[in-house]
Amino acid sequence: MKIYNTLTRKKEEFTPIEKGRVSMYVCGPTVYNLIHIGNARPMIVFDAFRRFLEYKGYEVNFVSNFTDVDDKIIKKAIEEGTDAQTIAKRYTEECKKDMADMNVRPATVHPLATQEIEGMIEMIQTLIDKGYAYQAADGTVYYRTKKFADYGKLSHKNLDELQAGHREIQVTGDLKEDPFDFVLWKPKKEGEPAWESPWCEGRPGWHIECSVMSKKYLGETIDIHAGGEDLIFPHHENEIAQSEAASGKPFAHYWMHNGFLNIDNQKMSKSLNNFFTVRDIAQKYDLQVLRFFMLSAHYRSPLNFSAELMDAAKNGLERIVTAASNVKRLSAVAGPGEMNETERELFEKTREYQDKFDAAMEDDCNTADAVSAIFELVKFINTNACADNTSIYLKNLYARLAVLCDVLGILIEKKEELLDEDIKRLIEERQTARKEKNFARADQIRDELEQKGILLKDTRQGVVWQRI
Ligand code: AMP
Ligand code: ZN
Repeated sequence: MKIYNTLTRKKEEFTPIEKGRVSMYVCGPTVYNLIHIGNARPMIVFDAFRRFLEYKGYEVNFVSNFTDVDDKIIKKAIEEGTDAQTIAKRYTEECKKDMADMNVRPATVHPLATQEIEGMIEMIQTLIDKGYAYQAADGTVYYRTKKFADYGKLSHKNLDELQAGHREIQVTGDLKEDPFDFVLWKPKKEGEPAWESPWCEGRPGWHIECSVMSKKYLGETIDIHAGGEDLIFPHHENEIAQSEAASGKPFAHYWMHNGFLNIDNQKMSKSLNNFFTVRDIAQKYDLQVLRFFMLSAHYRSPLNFSAELMDAAKNGLERIVTAASNVKRLSAVAGPGEMNETERELFEKTREYQDKFDAAMEDDCNTADAVSAIFELVKFINTNACADNTSIYLKNLYARLAVLCDVLGILIEKKEELLDEDIKRLIEERQTARKEKNFARADQIRDELEQKGILLKDTRQGVVWQRI
């Protein structure tokens, strides 16, 4: 399997540290608002990659944090007249709901920055002891960037060039020794959440959080670290500087970064009035469509979001779901017995699509080509499945499609057309009709439900129902 590694700017063969196991860290969102559709991209693409690794037989330890202490969270708390913890808790829960609706599986661990302060203090102390960090007069602890010889190796930036290009940066260096030094610990301001530390009462900088959480849950060296491409510099560059200076070991072997999501070919921003939360999109589309839309592109390419492209994704997904539901329906009524010779040959041919799918995913998680392989299988199913086939052949076709869709986390079961509430309401209406001796209406409701796959049973305890 090959992965494009931002560190080397090459596609490289993937070799995990430990045979059969993968440790993966994906930088999670700062929880100060509902997540936007840009935030959804790393969640969806790296969830699909995790699923693929598991399908290949790896045991994946997948860690993704929630940044629950940050300037934006504090600002929002002040606006609402509440505390930062209330804001962070609310939006962590909302984010988990969106993830579930996008069929993004929960991580093995979702650490919270505020629960890991002790580890951060420890790592900062190690960096001070090793000369990679220092305390300024106001209690702020800075990282001594120039001391880390490899600084810039991920973003392929050179500090001297950066300095030449940003002369103004040099005058902002208040209490820092050098303008490139970044914050590891900062003193408390009035009304802000704060923790005791050897330097001052305060809170951690953003970058140290990920270094510490990655180390705690995955170890000093991990296989894959991932996130959106905007995180390459400075966030990931700083994580490397912190972790490698502290441990003396490589931090992550492979760095994966997803491209940005734009709206109608423009950067998404509130000021351009083209900013969408995942919740906004959920009002118009099933979030499965958003997931399918994201996976129809390569994760490293920029992705343009537009109503037309979402409608195209909706149609594409519908084609897959319809093929799955047709073949499933046929298999329920088709004949018994073993597959005949022709069926065996046909089914053998479908292996080709699975091989294509695997090859695409093994080539740097090319979900776009993997989706094409699924469409080819759908086309094959649509032309090679009918009521004259054996049930087992049809079930095998369904299973082949289901396996591939499951790797991408695409749900192929048709959504129940009737919600539980609707069923209960119809049952009540039927009871009323019976009391009023309107048996025609009562029977009509029973038939209507039966047609939609709901079976009613009159028992002594009342009416019970089941989906068939
Ligand atoms: P944040 O909460 O801003 O730290 O973002 C959480 C994750 O979403 C990071 O991995 C970002 O790189 C990613 N992200 C933010 N905006 C976009 C976007 N427009 N397109 C793709 N990824 C994004
Ligand atoms: Zn991070």
